[in-house]
Amino acid sequence: MKFCEFTKTLLKNANPEEYSIISLDINNFHYIADTFGQETGDTVIKQLAAHIKEEFPLGTLFCRNYADNFSILVKASFRPILEDLVINATNIQAALIGLLPEYYQLEFSIGVYVINNTEEKPELMLENANMARQLGKYGLNPNRISYYTEEMKTNTERDKDVTLDMNRAFNENEFEVFFQPKFNFKTGAIIGAEALIRWNHKTKGLLTPNYFVPLFEKNGFIQKIDMLVFERVCQFLDRWNKSGADGSCPHPITISCNLSRVQLYNPDVAKRYASIAKKYHITPSKIEIELTESLMMGNKERLLRAMNEIRKAGFEISVDDFGSGFSSLSLLKDIPANVIKLDKEFLNTNNNNDKEQIIINSIIGMAKQLDITTVAEGVEDQEQSDLLKAMGCDIVQGYYYARPMPAKEYEALLHAQFDK
Ligand code: C2E
Ligand code: MG
Ligand code: MG
Repeated sequence: MKFCEFTKTLLKNANPEEYSIISLDINNFHYIADTFGQETGDTVIKQLAAHIKEEFPLGTLFCRNYADNFSILVKASFRPILEDLVINATNIQAALIGLLPEYYQLEFSIGVYVINNTEEKPELMLENANMARQLGKYGLNPNRISYYTEEMKTNTERDKDVTLDMNRAFNENEFEVFFQPKFNFKTGAIIGAEALIRWNHKTKGLLTPNYFVPLFEKNGFIQKIDMLVFERVCQFLDRWNKSGADGSCPHPITISCNLSRVQLYNPDVAKRYASIAKKYHITPSKIEIELTESLMMGNKERLLRAMNEIRKAGFEISVDDFGSGFSSLSLLKDIPANVIKLDKEFLNTNNNNDKEQIIINSIIGMAKQLDITTVAEGVEDQEQSDLLKAMGCDIVQGYYYARPMPAKEYEALLHAQFDK
């Protein structure tokens, strides 16, 4: 309240776009306190406060709202200047040597609202800066600054509508699992599928994940979706496993499910999955859990723990969108993955880039030596297909072979192949 009060006074005679409000917090701060102790957490916050005080110009107003969340009102609006200030103020790692292990990289979420209407209520200004910070939080680039735009407000309103609608949709069964077949590259036989969520909206029609998954990751609803997909996959496998003429399994298949990164903070996800699989008598190794590569840029320790638990429960692990991030290669030595899925952007042979092909070729070779299966994802044409096949890629998934389809269609496809 005091911050808002002072802001009002400070802005009385200010010009538009002269001041900015910065909203700043530390990513996964609760994890720092949980893992390295309350006192370490406190020191981190004090160091951050001291650095803000030191680096920002005289006359800057700042406060801690709660936990690790700070608000700053500064007389600056030129981006390079703001960025310098923020970079210097958050450069506290050196002050924490001995407290935080060296491998632990602090990351910040930073939102900036350049004040263009000085008459506006300070509470609203803060809200804008917070919104920018939250929307930037899940960006790929840690420590980057997210600037408020009008568009954010529109999107946030859309997000509010979807949030109000999602539980109804869930209860009315509008979420449906599609299956995209995967094929053995050499033989052309179907070996399984990836399960992909769709939203059959009563007025908007069939919605694909890019419309709702990012939002569900933010509001936590993705946990419900992932669980639903997993359970439907188990039901599907259960039905398939008994669908032969004599009630046996016509042919074993493997289905993969995506697991959102937010689930890594859910300590019993592996246990819950294992108990669902058990309920449907599914051998866990027939289910593959896909984790995206961007996840590997977060907290490595936590990721490894989660992966090991999933493996221990007997599921296979696949690294999705491999090659889209930065951490790829060295990662393979640490993580217990059975499968990597080469990112579709990576396979953009249109670039006709020789270097790219050399890299893909070596990744496939390296994976082979590590006993990791390679899947080429997003294969759209013959040329790509031929190239990847020649490179020795094991499995292929892409529009060129088959699109994601409803369970019934996929089941029919399987029967057509295996009922002989
Ligand atoms: P993903 O896991 O990498 O899934 C592959 C995406 O590539 C799917 O998009 C698929 O339809 C698309 N795709 C397959 N072949 C081709 C192709 O030849 N060309 C092109 N351009 N695209 C192709 P989709 O179904 O829209 O899903 C997008 C993303 O949403 C997924 O990427 C995944 O990250 C996420 N997602 C989907 N279902 C779930 C879910 O149940 N849980 C979670 N957490 N995320 C999900
Ligand atoms: Mg996937
Ligand atoms: Mg993928």
